[in-house]
Amino acid sequence: MTKLNICGYSNFRGRCHGHDHYVILRHPQPATTQCQFIRRPCMRAMQTLVAIIGFGSIPFAALGETAAEPDLEYPVPILAGANYDPDIPTLESLLGFSVGKRIAAPAEIEAVINAYAKASSRVAVFEYARSYEGRGLYYVAISTPANIARLDEIRGGWAKIGDPREIEPDDADELLQQLPAVAWMAYSIHGNETSGADAALALAYHLAAARDPQVEALLRDTVVLIDPMMNPDGRHRTSEQLAQHRGRQRNIDDQSLLHTGYWPWGRTNHYLFDLNRDWIYGVNPESRGRIAAAGGWNPLLFVDAHEMGAQDTYLFSPPRDPHNPNFPPSLGPWVERFAEDQARAFDANHWPYYTGEWNEGWYPGYSNAWAGLRGAVGMLYEQASVDEDGILRADGSVLTYSQAIHHQFVSSLANLQTLHANADQLKRNFLEIRRAAVGANGPYARRSFAILADGNQGRIERFVDLMQLQGIEVYRLTQPLMTRARDQLGRTSSVRLPVGTLLVPNRQPEANLVATLLEFDPRMPEETLKKERRELLMRNDSRLYDVTSWNISMMFGLEALELPIALPQQVEPVSTTIAAQVAVDGTALAYVFDGRDDRSVAAAARLAVRGLTARVGEKEFTLDGTAFARGSVVVTRYDNRDEQELAGAINAVAAQLKIAPTAITSGWGPGDAPDLGGGYFVRLTAPTIAVLARGGIRPYDYGNVWKLLDQDIGIRHSQIDEALLAETDLRRYNVLVLPDRWQGELDSAAVERINDWVAAGGTLIAIGQSAAQLAQPDQGVDAVRALPQALEELQTFELAVLREAMADQDTRLGDSVWSHGVTTDYRFPWPADADWPEIEELQKRDDWLKLFMPQGAFVAARVDTEHWLSFGSPATLPVLYGNAPVLFSAPPAETPVRLGAYRPAADAQSSAAGEDEAVRRAGWLALPDEQGLDLRMSGLLWPEAAQRMAHGAYLVRETVGDGQIILFAAPPSFRGATLGTMRLLANALVYGPGFGSSQAIRP
Ligand SMILES: [Zn+2]
Repeated sequence: MTKLNICGYSNFRGRCHGHDHYVILRHPQPATTQCQFIRRPCMRAMQTLVAIIGFGSIPFAALGETAAEPDLEYPVPILAGANYDPDIPTLESLLGFSVGKRIAAPAEIEAVINAYAKASSRVAVFEYARSYEGRGLYYVAISTPANIARLDEIRGGWAKIGDPREIEPDDADELLQQLPAVAWMAYSIHGNETSGADAALALAYHLAAARDPQVEALLRDTVVLIDPMMNPDGRHRTSEQLAQHRGRQRNIDDQSLLHTGYWPWGRTNHYLFDLNRDWIYGVNPESRGRIAAAGGWNPLLFVDAHEMGAQDTYLFSPPRDPHNPNFPPSLGPWVERFAEDQARAFDANHWPYYTGEWNEGWYPGYSNAWAGLRGAVGMLYEQASVDEDGILRADGSVLTYSQAIHHQFVSSLANLQTLHANADQLKRNFLEIRRAAVGANGPYARRSFAILADGNQGRIERFVDLMQLQGIEVYRLTQPLMTRARDQLGRTSSVRLPVGTLLVPNRQPEANLVATLLEFDPRMPEETLKKERRELLMRNDSRLYDVTSWNISMMFGLEALELPIALPQQVEPVSTTIAAQVAVDGTALAYVFDGRDDRSVAAAARLAVRGLTARVGEKEFTLDGTAFARGSVVVTRYDNRDEQELAGAINAVAAQLKIAPTAITSGWGPGDAPDLGGGYFVRLTAPTIAVLARGGIRPYDYGNVWKLLDQDIGIRHSQIDEALLAETDLRRYNVLVLPDRWQGELDSAAVERINDWVAAGGTLIAIGQSAAQLAQPDQGVDAVRALPQALEELQTFELAVLREAMADQDTRLGDSVWSHGVTTDYRFPWPADADWPEIEELQKRDDWLKLFMPQGAFVAARVDTEHWLSFGSPATLPVLYGNAPVLFSAPPAETPVRLGAYRPAADAQSSAAGEDEAVRRAGWLALPDEQGLDLRMSGLLWPEAAQRMAHGAYLVRETVGDGQIILFAAPPSFRGATLGTMRLLANALVYGPGFGSSQAIRP
């Protein structure tokens, strides 16, 4: 799951206090969680704690005094005692080194599994995906030759059991008898957690070559599918780093580069995505191939082998609470049973282990969690990390790499044996889970989810694609439907759903997964909340390991409803939504890509790269009788009069993006609607983009920006090493991105250079901690401040918020405006004579509220739907927010997205309170008349955090000289799946140089 010690990817929870393991932070920087959200001060406390106690506790001093080689012999053979077929080549003969001597590189793993497939009729190898860097991902099927010969039939049989609607009950029972159980054994999804993959090779050899009756019986009844390296690109990176730092002397110091690795480490894939969070989003090719392959097999056992901190022991399932509420209840005791047998195997070797201390079962995007939601017994392994040679430990012993592999190997065999011994019951249990999922009286029978079609065809298609990848059925309404419905903020009403609305019935084979992905607001039990709150208050820590919300409709920024009904009759299945390609001809006056579709931004960028001039409509417009949303991209013949192949270029970009442009023959907009030659069609400047990397930049956030630019928008850009910033000629770029930071700040000289560049016309985009730095006095922006500095200017920020609300107020103005008299009771928008506490009190309050910042929850944000940064965005946008900076802003800064959505409050008093009336404040700032504020949409957001975050600026823009600074308080791209907020970032990247900054006319 996580490698405890590796800089910033760590999970320290459960370890911060009262633990007798030593966690060595290998990088002296603010430690952060694996989940991309900076965690609370525990981490900083931990850092100090480690600095104080860490070194004294481990006898490195002794090591320095002795010149002797550490004893790295591991005398216990990993593959002991079996009767192996001599015709199957040993690992040592294939690799050229013995198991555990060092790690096997991806190419070596590929060679070994192919050699087994060639040598043994028990083995078949299947490629299920290619990584971004072109490496193969494989699963190795091992069973009796007879089973291997009928693998397709076996998989087909399990597909029938997996969908009991398609098979008579008696036939299902008979089929179950004939089907071998299937185990999916997966290793090293984090590339720098290496021991799993090496154990997978040992396991494959053992199962392919052993002639013992026990192994032969296991293979007769079981198909073992081994996924030996789930992240070959990350493993390759690790393997290269190990090779580069391997010395003549063996190295057993876990603080040394050999063991720590370095930015961006090997945990993640090519674009630095954590593949062990991607199971529910399916963003990366590795995950997509795996979801289809593993899902297609319907395994009963799913093993996922990781590593954690080098000074730890060994952890395995079951996880501790909170448990995902949609996890099939019958699986809980089974996970326990597997764990007991695994514990016995460890006891027999006198190996230490533990379960459940820190891994919780709430987030569904881990391998074993995803598998559990599909009906498998999911087992997580976490071995203390070694990588190579060995690790000197606090008790003076050395844990060797061989022993680490041995632990993973023994665990794997133990779980397979438990599966074998209980196969009949487990098969029946799986069938019962699926029967409940599709049953008319099942727990999910009378519920469906509706996704409202909003014209953002690109996003809708991604939603349908994800559902289909997960084996989830999607339908489309063919008639309008009247029904009760609950929205994403929990409000219930009667609605009329139009034709074209997407419906996902919860009652279907993957019901547990459907519920998990689409339920708006799963809640933790009261007991869990109490424990979590105690952890916060007593230890300044959290028991939660990852984000507490992942709702797909919110991730995607799509409006959705929960309906208390089964699937209605008037629907058709949605098989594919890829729009028919429309080729435009060369006679038109202009071509338009509709701005509601996210892909229009990529189209604009790609056209610019081709040297074409595009404009973007600031307002909605109608040309040739077709209405287009604001943000639509217009390419006119006039702007591109030297381009002979204009239609060809338009068609080429449209084909790449699978979108259909509209050809326009007239530039006249009816009535007040914009005409094509007017000022509402802003001419774009081609973006030349640089992204800051390395140094203190958070790899995840950098990777998210990188992938968005490289794969989704699809344009060239440059990546600048933070250490070389002083020597970088920024004039080559008109957009510079500073991703979120996990360490330190940019030095003042760098900030000064960047600000000079901004003033000369640059568009600077800063995210998270980088944004917070620029919001400090004299660092970049003037009208934005982060908490706690913002506390000094709360009155300014309060007025800004009230001013924005007044601008949108829907009250009758005429009576007061046309009156001839000067009113004697004019009310200012801000609270009259309101008492503001002293700054010390405000700071005390902020310190208190800050304790409760979320681990990752969806909050509602209100959107300025006339701002260019919000093209393609709904008026209320779900924003995923962790322990990010909280920003406040006032004019002249513009705030296109602000935290909190207004709702009419029946009991609301006037905000312009007189002497007798209390000021109504939501958090720090007053509410407008008769308005309440909704913030929490989904996930755990303590009321204290809501107080602190209400009215915070999520996206803010300020003009600086001829340029502009755009700040995102929290990362807009989270795991490449927050399509709603990613659109804001795409707008900033591509439209920034044309919209918010002034580029010089070069004579
Ligand atoms: Zn891991």
